[in-house]
Amino acid sequence: MAEKVAVEKKVLSENDKLAAEIRAQLKKHAVASLNFVSSPGSGKTSLLEKTLEALRNELKIALIAGDVQTENDANRLTRAGGTLVRPLVTGGACHLDARMIARVLPEFELAGLDVLFLENVGNLVCPSSYDLGEDMKVVLISTTEGDDKPLKYPGMFRRSSVMVINKIDLLEFTDFDMEAVKRNALQINGRLKIFELSCRTGEGLQAWFDWLRDFVKTQKNS
Ligand code: MG
Ligand code: ZN
Repeated sequence: MAEKVAVEKKVLSENDKLAAEIRAQLKKHAVASLNFVSSPGSGKTSLLEKTLEALRNELKIALIAGDVQTENDANRLTRAGGTLVRPLVTGGACHLDARMIARVLPEFELAGLDVLFLENVGNLVCPSSYDLGEDMKVVLISTTEGDDKPLKYPGMFRRSSVMVINKIDLLEFTDFDMEAVKRNALQINGRLKIFELSCRTGEGLQAWFDWLRDFVKTQKNS
């Protein structure tokens, strides 16, 4: 057991070192970067699709779409107008790590890029331990899940800066308690910025786009 812990520690510290190099590289070129994490089916790909459609004419966006076995999400995102979408099939791994990102990153021309989106593998556990060199993590939760998820997976909510609550159009058909999920999340991390939206109907998306545009601008000037 002690040996297993030691190996994990070594893997994570190597990951952190590589993530720091990625972060420095992105900073040098003033590229903002966001790491999207959630359970499978919360709507990461849908949110990224809508975001690419809305902002592709004003921001130069690149995206690395992680998937366990297929390139389906990357294909969807390419259709949404992301010209710089790279699929990253993990071949079974349940999270992205910095080494995977470092391998794909040279395919992008970082100069002139405004923002890099990383779509992590659908999993609320280990992606929280792997720094990818991003500015922040965006955690998604949808109204078809349990409103106690922040309490069950505190690590992910603690390490995220933004929480997006998706599928608010389905709220009336579920027992999901909007006030409870926010209370639970803020109890774990009082600084979480929260958005409530529906990728399907478009409700609430504008506030997300506005915030994102401002965030990218702030990163550029910092
Ligand atoms: Mg996806
Ligand atoms: Zn994993």
